Amino acid sequence: MTTNITQAAVKRIQLSLKAEQFTESVIREMTRLAFKHGAVNLSQGYPDFSAPAEIKQAAREAIDADINQYAITWGAKRFRDAIAAKFQRTQGVSLDPEREITVCCGSTEAMISSMLAIINPGDEVVVFEPFYENYGPDAILSGASPKYVKLKPPQWTFDPDGLAAAFSANTKAIILNSPNNPTGKVFDRAELEQIRDLCVRWNVFAITDEIYEHMLYDGAEHISIAAIEGMRDRTITINALSKTYCVTGWRVGWAIAAPEVTASIRKVHDFLTVGAAAPLQEAGARAMEFPASYYEKLARDYAVRRERLLGILTDAGFRCFKPRGAYYIMTDISAFGFPNDFAFAKYLVEEIGVAAVPGSSFFRDPADGKSILRFTFCKKEETLAAAAAKLAKLRKG
Ligand code: GLN
Repeated sequence: MTTNITQAAVKRIQLSLKAEQFTESVIREMTRLAFKHGAVNLSQGYPDFSAPAEIKQAAREAIDADINQYAITWGAKRFRDAIAAKFQRTQGVSLDPEREITVCCGSTEAMISSMLAIINPGDEVVVFEPFYENYGPDAILSGASPKYVKLKPPQWTFDPDGLAAAFSANTKAIILNSPNNPTGKVFDRAELEQIRDLCVRWNVFAITDEIYEHMLYDGAEHISIAAIEGMRDRTITINALSKTYCVTGWRVGWAIAAPEVTASIRKVHDFLTVGAAAPLQEAGARAMEFPASYYEKLARDYAVRRERLLGILTDAGFRCFKPRGAYYIMTDISAFGFPNDFAFAKYLVEEIGVAAVPGSSFFRDPADGKSILRFTFCKKEETLAAAAAKLAKLRKG
């Protein structure tokens, strides 16, 4: 009796109209499918090799030292100091760690907290397309309307007039991600200056996701848009420990912004999550003091993995777009004759034993990604070798 009443009541309850507008992450779903089918997982971008011994040791020491209660909601002081010191060292931007940094649960939370902190009804955000799939739901959840600007292969350039046309009096922010997921594009100074000119003209924020800042190839240089003249105080810079220190499961990231903006982000962050894991922030502080040689080796090792996966995919019949940064390879799958990216990704994971991400998850209109698959190379040699063996079956048909 009670059960029937409850079920009837549940049926009448309307769920969030916002949540109804987006689906679960296809990237995370592909990882689940990889596990289900025992496939080699080249879909979700997380390393399958070890984190540096020093960062793991620092985390153990922090737990042993009983740093096991809440950190200050916007981040442990030592960690914020280390973030500020590294930003100064690498980008030449000086920060006040007391008023300009919010430590969050990963860059994912830093991004949504930042958007919730600045967006009002009617606001628009400019987003380059293809885009990292989180930005779509982030826009919906925060109430912003996205305006998409295409990055055109093979170099993933944008049309400056098209970009200018996306800005208006309603624009609140542009979302940047450089080095870029999924394309591997690294925005250069001239491009960042074009974006700066529009941000200044329309009084707009840049929210920039720089999580792949140290994964750079072929001489590409990472420039934070906050370091471009005129942008320091209108930029929200998002980053995390996840990719740089191989600890995606720790969920420690941050948002850097001018004091008034940070005050708003901190309030949102506080009521969403209270704070990120305290001992892991201490370990992060230690990691951010690693010498330059750590980052140089990281980039060198990823360059080797990039070459390896480019070779594997090319041999298997994919047409590859060579990335200049981050750790993904976009491929054209037209030659395989499948009706779309989903059908091919399903075949790959179920029959061939390799998981990749269907291109449509990076576009507003699925048709734009229907001949694309994204592979990641943040994997150890054994994993890439296993993928090579499986993909060789594709050739034999
Ligand atoms: N950025 C990673 C990717 O694109 C995944 C991040 C995540 O799943 N939170 O694969």
